Amino acid sequence: MPNNTVGYVHSIETFGALDGPGIRYILFLQGCPLKCLYCHNPDALETNSGTIKSVDEVLNDVVRYKSFLSGGGITLSGGEPLLQSDFCEELIDKAHVLGFHVAIDTSGGMPLSVCKNVIEKADLLLLDIKAIDAELCRKISGQDNSNALKILNLREQLKKPVWIRHVVVPGLTLDKNHLTALADYLMPFKCVERIDLLPFHKLGEYKWENMKRKYELWDTPTPTNEEMKEAIKIFLDRRLPAN
Ligand code: SF4
Repeated sequence: MPNNTVGYVHSIETFGALDGPGIRYILFLQGCPLKCLYCHNPDALETNSGTIKSVDEVLNDVVRYKSFLSGGGITLSGGEPLLQSDFCEELIDKAHVLGFHVAIDTSGGMPLSVCKNVIEKADLLLLDIKAIDAELCRKISGQDNSNALKILNLREQLKKPVWIRHVVVPGLTLDKNHLTALADYLMPFKCVERIDLLPFHKLGEYKWENMKRKYELWDTPTPTNEEMKEAIKIFLDRRLPAN
């Protein structure tokens, strides 16, 4: 096991309720290889920046909240946590010794050659599939979905749980054919416990402005409730656990 690896941390949320089961300590790691048009954390993209913390420093902080995290655990998010795979692997190993459940919240943007151990060790994987169509995925994030799909295959082989996340964006992924293709693709995967269809929002727009970067989706609306219900229905009609 590596010993007290340091990582670049963007921020911490001590009582997260959205990124995995129960109440969770969310560690947002700095740096991401993707460039999603709708990124709500553009300030987390730059690598080798942020606050440097060691695995032991992080876990010493986590244990202060242990009583609140009993039905939950730790989620490593970002940015892209798998960009710092050695840090994540050591943190998972040591967190398991302390009795914590650890989830990884990933865009699936890293190749298995660098993140396989983390994918194998995570108790839960929150996997963002930007688009099932490779070209659309490239248009949205700057990279195709091949790494994400290989990661999903590995979790299936391991029989370890995955929650899929998919952002529904008018003009991009809010499209019946696209959503049907994604639902059909996911149908055989027994490891998929849950599919979260997330409506596109512009809550991070101001960060792009602050960074003086162009926000391409300025004119894109948020999907309506009706549009989201129809999108979810495509998955429910296939008996997929979508919401
Ligand atoms: S994967 Fe997440 S952090 Fe990275 S660019 Fe996309 S939305 Fe932003």
